Amino acid sequence: MHMNPAAKPAWDRLAEALMETSPDCEGDDRYITDINTADDKRVMWEMCSACPLLALCVDYATTERPKGGWWPGHNLKPSTRKEAA
Ligand code: SF4
Repeated sequence: MHMNPAAKPAWDRLAEALMETSPDCEGDDRYITDINTADDKRVMWEMCSACPLLALCVDYATTERPKGGWWPGHNLKPSTRKEAA
């Protein structure tokens, strides 16, 4: 995996936290596809909103801007978040 060097510190913090915490997205195929319904996205955002790793996850995703999968802070723009609330 090629990683933006600027994202490495954020990835390291997220990876360390993932060793202690299993987030609800683990094993959920909706997070590894680029095609989700509006209902899926709403549910996913609710799951992420309650996730103890949210801040670390957003920090990584907004720095790295991953090309695949669904990431809070990257795939959900502020207008979408408002709509999902
Ligand atoms: S905030 Fe990140 S780690 Fe937590 S459920 Fe969402 S995608 Fe998974």
